[in-house]
Amino acid sequence: MSKQGNLSINSENIFPIIKKWLYSDHDIFTREVISNACDAILKFKKLCDMGEATDTVNEDFKVVVTVDKEAKTLTFADNGIGMTEEEIEKYITQIAFSGAEDFLAKYKDKMNEDQIIGHFGLGFYSVFMVADTVDIDTVSYQTNTAVKWTCDGGTTYELSEGTRTSRGTTITLHINEESTMFLEYYTVLQTIEKYCSFMPVPIYVIDAQKEAERLAEAAKKEAEPIDVDENGNAKAPSEVDDAPKPINDAHPLYVKQPSECKDDEYKEFYRKTFADFNEPLFWIHLNMDYPFRLKGILYFPKLSHELETIEGRIKLYNNQVFVAENIKEVIPEFLLLLKGVIDCPDLPLNVSRSLLQNDGFVTKIADYITKKVADKLISLSKKDNETYKKFWDDIAPFIKYGCLKESKFFDKMKDYILFKTTNDDYVTLNEYLERVKETNENTVFYISNQEQQSQYIKMFKDNNLCAVYLEHSIDGPFMSHLEYSNQAVKFKRIDSNISDALKGEAADKTYEENLTTLFKEKSA
Ligand code: ADP
Repeated sequence: MSKQGNLSINSENIFPIIKKWLYSDHDIFTREVISNACDAILKFKKLCDMGEATDTVNEDFKVVVTVDKEAKTLTFADNGIGMTEEEIEKYITQIAFSGAEDFLAKYKDKMNEDQIIGHFGLGFYSVFMVADTVDIDTVSYQTNTAVKWTCDGGTTYELSEGTRTSRGTTITLHINEESTMFLEYYTVLQTIEKYCSFMPVPIYVIDAQKEAERLAEAAKKEAEPIDVDENGNAKAPSEVDDAPKPINDAHPLYVKQPSECKDDEYKEFYRKTFADFNEPLFWIHLNMDYPFRLKGILYFPKLSHELETIEGRIKLYNNQVFVAENIKEVIPEFLLLLKGVIDCPDLPLNVSRSLLQNDGFVTKIADYITKKVADKLISLSKKDNETYKKFWDDIAPFIKYGCLKESKFFDKMKDYILFKTTNDDYVTLNEYLERVKETNENTVFYISNQEQQSQYIKMFKDNNLCAVYLEHSIDGPFMSHLEYSNQAVKFKRIDSNISDALKGEAADKTYEENLTTLFKEKSA
């Protein structure tokens, strides 16, 4: 059995285009091939559940990626559903190109726009970005014969008898000259960790040379005479378990029900996912099915003082397949100060930013996330006010930034904004205004720099007056925002000329005199 065929494309040749323009990130082929392999396994399991196929006893479903620097190949082997010859023709040869014409016409000028390929079912062909020749060796669950498809990136391919002996698919990439970095074990490992760390099937990444050494070593040990103790009993072998382990977490915490997850697990997930050993302050577990599906965990990290230096990270997934990080169209910008994972199966896998902009569905997702974050903060403030106050200094810059950026967020949060006062407590704006009603109605005295304004703080305290600390760089714009949205309120720096802010005939009195007046009025 050996036959040749032509790839049915009307366009000249799609491969040069795939190679040069399709993805700006060449490493994305790993995601495409491994997610196909996971899908093939999930499809097979589903058939078994439905009674339409039977797996071998205790079958270990997995995807094994082998980096073979000597052979210059990268292989992806799965024990999934496999393909028959007809299916290869249909899914690999024809389907992939059915949209090619349209695709080329539409996107020729926009090839640098990221990641469009998946919309056209061309994911598999991304392997030609890094490989000269590609082999698919596969055994379908429906047959016992292996079929091999080989294509050298031209418009012809060859079908022949394969060598695979068990159900599943092995895809071998003969890596091209420009892509030899994909023959480096650690490069491959890191790439796969980036795209596949939550994929739903165990994934192993193996260095062919190291694995050969390991197996040889193990065989040698096996052949050695059994070590006996003084009584002639066999000693337990002191072997270290160096067998390869999966590089991914096939059941990440965020896919579980919030009620099943413990605090320690949330913290551990945070450490592992973001390699951050500082504990997060708290987190929000998102889990909804309607009107769209969305799962995820958002963590509030301890923020450093200046917002510019903060690097949040929100990783976006589609059914446990990594799509991209920090996508502003989906995640409201202020939330990018947080760290977290969001999985939304309804989003197109290959997020092209221009497609996402002005997309009503995407706006709904962003609104939902914003609402959830506000709800969590409000419920914390109501149910555990002590903790809310304790966290306030750390979360305030984030909340204020959010209020400036998103009016919906501000509307929800405005009554839960706290101010730290010279009385050493935290109050809301209304509580503060109530406290100072007698002396400086509707005026908030604030401290912008404790050290420089220390004498004024002392005078305030001595006179039983109350000011608030607003020392962060976000506080300037935030105060303007509050004044703008609440016309009655005015913010006054503690060391400014306070006479005009005070009730009555403050006139040209000195600061000291004014304070004295205030004090007298207060105690009268
Ligand atoms: P898509 O995944 O978007 O359908 P691809 O070009 O990536 O497009 O794959 C085309 C088809 O080839 C898949 O839908 C699947 O039917 C088949 N296929 C690809 N890889 C495998 C595999 N490892 N095992 C079984 N079938 C596969």
